Amino acid sequence: MGWPYHFVSLDDGQQVRRRQLLDSYGQIAQFSILLLPLIYQLSLGVRLLFGRLQRKHVYEPVKEHQSPVASGFKQPAIDGTGSAWAKLRWALDEPVAQGWETRKEWLAILVWGAWLLLLVLRDTGDDYLHLTRRFGIVAASQLPLHYALALKSWSPIQYLARLSHESLNPYHRLLGRLIILLMTCHATLYLNFYFQNDLLQKRLKDSDVILGLTSIISALLIGTTALARIRHWNYRLFFYSHVMLSLSLLPILYFHVPYLRLYIIEATAIYILLIAQRNTEQSSTTATIEPFPGTNLLSITIPLTPSLKKRNYTPGQHIYLSLPSLPQKLRINPFSIANPDPTSDNHIHLVVRTLNGTTALLASLTKPPQPTPILVEGPYGSANYFPDPATYDRILFVAGGVGATFNLPIYRDLLRRSTAGDQVPPANFVWAVRKDEDAVWGVQVLSEQCKGILPKSFEIFVTGKGGSASDGPPPIRNDSIELQEREGLLDTSASKEGIAEAVRRGRPNFRGIVDEVFEQGGSGDRVAVLVCGPSDMGASVRKEVGRWVWRGREVWWHSEEFGW
Ligand SMILES: Cc1cc2nc3c(=O)[nH]c(=O)nc-3n(C[C@H](O)[C@H](O)[C@H](O)COP(=O)(O)OP(=O)(O)OC[C@H]3O[C@@H](n4cnc5c(N)ncnc54)[C@H](O)[C@@H]3O)c2cc1C
Repeated sequence: MGWPYHFVSLDDGQQVRRRQLLDSYGQIAQFSILLLPLIYQLSLGVRLLFGRLQRKHVYEPVKEHQSPVASGFKQPAIDGTGSAWAKLRWALDEPVAQGWETRKEWLAILVWGAWLLLLVLRDTGDDYLHLTRRFGIVAASQLPLHYALALKSWSPIQYLARLSHESLNPYHRLLGRLIILLMTCHATLYLNFYFQNDLLQKRLKDSDVILGLTSIISALLIGTTALARIRHWNYRLFFYSHVMLSLSLLPILYFHVPYLRLYIIEATAIYILLIAQRNTEQSSTTATIEPFPGTNLLSITIPLTPSLKKRNYTPGQHIYLSLPSLPQKLRINPFSIANPDPTSDNHIHLVVRTLNGTTALLASLTKPPQPTPILVEGPYGSANYFPDPATYDRILFVAGGVGATFNLPIYRDLLRRSTAGDQVPPANFVWAVRKDEDAVWGVQVLSEQCKGILPKSFEIFVTGKGGSASDGPPPIRNDSIELQEREGLLDTSASKEGIAEAVRRGRPNFRGIVDEVFEQGGSGDRVAVLVCGPSDMGASVRKEVGRWVWRGREVWWHSEEFGW
C-alpha cells in the first residue's frame, strides 16, 4: 500500500467543503475535551459505588479541621474495588523511567493522541493539503486546554478532575509535547509541499510562512527548555523562557492564519487569567528570618495579614515566596508550610535549606537579622485534594531532611486530633537527617505540642557522622542499628522524655520499617504512605510498599517532590 495522499486541485465548491471540514474537526477536537471530566466523574461514581457495596470503610465526611472549600474537593478515601484494581493502579502510577512521567500519564496522553490523530485523518480523502492543514488546526485547538492546565488555582479542570495543579502538571507537559508533534507534522508537510512544487523560495518570503516557522521554532524552544534535564539544571532559564515564549507564541499564531484565531483568543484569555490569578493571590508582608544554629536551615516566620488570614490552609500545602525588591522580585520559590494550622498560630512558618540562589539571598538577610518585605502566594498543593488520612487503618510517614516540612504538619495534625478525642489510626513517622541539628526544629515543635513527651511512633535516623556510612548498604533495622544514647544535641538540648529513644544512628532500613507497619493490624488494613525526601529515598520506600500491594494490600501512596 503506497502513500495515500496527493497534491490535488480542487474547484471552488470543494475548497469551501475542505474549509468547513477543517473548522468542524478543529471544533470536535476542542469540544471532545469536555468528555474527559465527564468520563472521570463517571469512573469516580462507579468506584464509590463499588466501594460502598464492598466495604464498610468508605469515604467519611471531612473532619472539622479542614476547610470547607478544600473539603468539597476531597478525593474519596476508597480503593475498595478489589486488589486487582489496587495493583493496576499501583502499576500505572510507576514512572516510565526515573524522573519521567508515570505510565498512567503517558497512557492517558497516548490515548488522547490517538483520538487527535483520528480527527486529523478522518475525511481528508487523498488531499495532501487537507491533511497538512488538519494537523495545524487540531494542534491549535488544544492550546486553550494546554494553557488551562497551567492554572494554579481558579481552575475548572482542577475542580472537575479533583486534582491539584501539581498532579495536572505532568499532563500539561505531555500535552505540550503532543501539540509540538502535531505542529511539526504540519510544518514538515507544508515545507515538503513547497519544495516539491518549486514554491519554497517564494513562500519563505511570505508573512504567513515566516510566522508559521517562527511559531514552530518557538514551540520547539519551549519544549526543549521544559525538558527535565534543563529544568533541573537551571530552573530559572526554564521558567523565564517558558513564560516569554508561551506568551509570544499567541500573537504569532494569531497573525499566522485567520482560522486559528478563535483558539488563540481562548488561550490568550486563559493566559490573562493565569497572570491575574498569580497577581491577585500575592500578599505583601514582612517576614522574620532566623538561622538555625549549626545548620544551613533558616526559620522564616510570616505573620498572617488580613488577606492571608482569609485563605484556607490544609496541612501539607506550600506557598510561593518572593522578594518584592528588584531584581530579587523575579525569584519566586516554593516552600512547604511547616506548621499545621497557620490560622490559629496567626503566622506561616517555613523551614528553608540554604542552597545557592534565592535561599542564599534569604540567608544573607540574617546577617544581621532584619525584617524582610516579602510577597506570599498560595497556599497550593496536592494536600487540598488528599483524602483524610484518618480514614485509613495505618499511616506511615517517611521524610528525608527538610522534606519533613511537608509531612510533619500532617502527622502533627493527626496527633492534635487524637488529643482532641477524634479516632485516628496509628501513625509512624520516620525521619532521616544527616546530622542531629537538622532535626532540632522538628523535635522542638513536636515536643512542645506533646507536652515534652515524644510519641513512640516518631523515629529520627541520623545518617551522617556518628551514624553508619551513608553510601553503604542499609543496616538491618533494630538488629544492627545502634540505638545508642546520643552524645549530641538531640539528647542534651531537651531533657524531655522520648527524645533519646527516638534517635537511631544509621540509615533507616525501609524494608523493615514498611514490613512492620503492614504486619501490624489485620491483613485487610488499608495503609496510607506519605513520603517527602530525595527521589531515590522515595523510590526505595515505593519499592518496599509495592511488595505489599502485590500481596493484595490496599495503599494510598503520595510522594511529594521538592521540584518538578
Ligand atoms: C512544592 C515544593 C515545596 C518545597 N518546600 C521546601 C521547604 O519547605 N523547604 C526547603 O528548603 N525547600 C523546599 N522546596 C525546595 C525549594 O523550593 C528549593 O530548594 C529552593 O527554591 C532552591 O532555591 P535555591 O536558592 O537553590 O536556588 P534557586 O535558583 O532560587 O532555585 C533553584 C531550584 O529551586 C526550585 N524552584 C525554584 N523556583 C521554583 C518554582 N517556582 N517552582 C518549582 N521549583 C522551583 C527548582 O528545583 C530549582 O532548580 C520545595 C519545593 C517544592 C517544589
